[in-house]
Amino acid sequence: MSVLVPPPPPPILRRWADSCLDLLFPPACAVCGRYGHRICPACAQAVVPVPHTICERCGRVQETRVACCSACLGAKNSPLLQVRAAGLHVAPLRHLIHLLKYEDRPDLAPDLARYLAATLAGPDWQLLWPQIDALAPVPLHAERRRERGYDQAELLANGLSSRTRIPLRLDLVERTRRTRAPVGLNAAQRQANMRNAFAAKGSCPGLHVLLIDDVYTTGATMAACADALLDAGAAWVCGLTLALPSSAADHNSR
Ligand SMILES: [Zn+2]
Ligand SMILES: [Zn+2]
Repeated sequence: MSVLVPPPPPPILRRWADSCLDLLFPPACAVCGRYGHRICPACAQAVVPVPHTICERCGRVQETRVACCSACLGAKNSPLLQVRAAGLHVAPLRHLIHLLKYEDRPDLAPDLARYLAATLAGPDWQLLWPQIDALAPVPLHAERRRERGYDQAELLANGLSSRTRIPLRLDLVERTRRTRAPVGLNAAQRQANMRNAFAAKGSCPGLHVLLIDDVYTTGATMAACADALLDAGAAWVCGLTLALPSSAADHNSR
């Protein structure tokens, strides 16, 4: 039996309505509850940034900064040229992402996109940023999106697009298969789970694409999405996420 869910209002109407409501009823901080901001300055500052000691390829935290970590060496040809995350998947960012994904708080996306913009403005993106042609969210399956009412990665990419003027492209890639939640799967199982989960919507010859997602765990989801884009002719694909797990045990499902 299918359930009819009304479509969400267009983003511009939603933003306008949100701003009017903010004037009448100042929002409470999603973390500490203090009135005035959706994420108050104190809680925004408490987000733990990813340290400098990372693998320059996959962006994962290492003991020292390395050009290519053992995981990247083992994976041989990663389809992703470079991946970075804005912060560690610990409080308060972890809580904010949970609210965005599971507690019907799409209104947090524009504030969270600020972290993506700040990361993209960092030194690791100096050479690549001018080449980026398109921002593409790692898409949810259409059914999952209907259930949730929105796609959090799309909202984040949209927020980043309005801050950077890099075009948002929703016509590049789609999720063709509903995958099982990756909780409890090891890296190889996650890869198998993601095989053929995405397909390019058309060809994109020579395009330089920055994929946007909320959390980067084993990278299987983003890699599968990047594979689909490269098959469709993309010149390169990079990735940018809000958070990176601080340990391998920290898994997250979409
Ligand atoms: Zn707060
Ligand atoms: Zn690596």
